[in-house]
Amino acid sequence: MSRTVGVLVMEHIAAGLVDGNKVVGPLKIFPESPQSLDPLQSMPSGDITEAIRGLVEKVAGAEKIEAVGIGFPGIIQSGVVEESPNLQQVKGFALQAALSSSLKGKAAGAPVRVFNDADAMAAGIAATQGKLHQLTRVWTLGNGIGFGRYPASEGVWEGGHTVVTLDPKEGFCGCGGKGHLEGILGRRSMRMRFLDLEPEEVFENARAGDARCAEFVQLCHRALAAATATSIHMEGPGTFFITGLDTKFIDTGLLDRLVHEMVKMSPLQGSRFEVLPASDELGILGAAVNASHAAK
Ligand SMILES: [Zn+2]
Repeated sequence: MSRTVGVLVMEHIAAGLVDGNKVVGPLKIFPESPQSLDPLQSMPSGDITEAIRGLVEKVAGAEKIEAVGIGFPGIIQSGVVEESPNLQQVKGFALQAALSSSLKGKAAGAPVRVFNDADAMAAGIAATQGKLHQLTRVWTLGNGIGFGRYPASEGVWEGGHTVVTLDPKEGFCGCGGKGHLEGILGRRSMRMRFLDLEPEEVFENARAGDARCAEFVQLCHRALAAATATSIHMEGPGTFFITGLDTKFIDTGLLDRLVHEMVKMSPLQGSRFEVLPASDELGILGAAVNASHAAK
């Protein structure tokens, strides 16, 4: 029986072998030991491709591979990374073609498909929750803010860059745009805003009563609620999953109350938030599921 390889590139690279809707066997991670800074930020596109290729071949082992799915941050169109604000060296890189032509061993010749990383997470959540027939939306919180959507659909869906404030001073987003959600809630932009504090310290200080930090924590929640309200007004209500390394900052009760203030039309009521622990497996599974569908 043929299997699929899924890869998630989200601050590090993780790969796994997927059979049906399950990751089987151990994951392979690059770099092998965790690093405090995002190790991919200083890597040229060719080196990132090589790292992905190495993991795919390791994971494939002696199995015949049906397809390879990659979840990669940024705007992905036809296998090309058209823009990736937090990995700017990859802009314009034809990742799908580079990887297809370099795969060896049992993975050689398998069709490679590249998807947005958050879309891969959404597909993984839909697959594990038995929701492959309904709209699944997810926010991924890290250096960048990802917005994932399943099923995949024509369009760009860069929800992390939703404009949530008209304040012209709000310019910390990695893409350079003013007033974006990522410019408030993204880890990189938090560091730029509080040059003397790590994001964890900002949230601790807020709990201890520091007014400036408390005001910022409120702003973060209002920003995520506003971007969610925009999605509800465009595509209707539903469950919004939140995942990634920085979900510890999020108070879902506060988010629920804020969304309730922002969305008032009765057919649009009934959304809720659900936090899922950061998981490479979900993104790996989703990239593989999407690639397997695309290969059929
Ligand atoms: Zn932006």
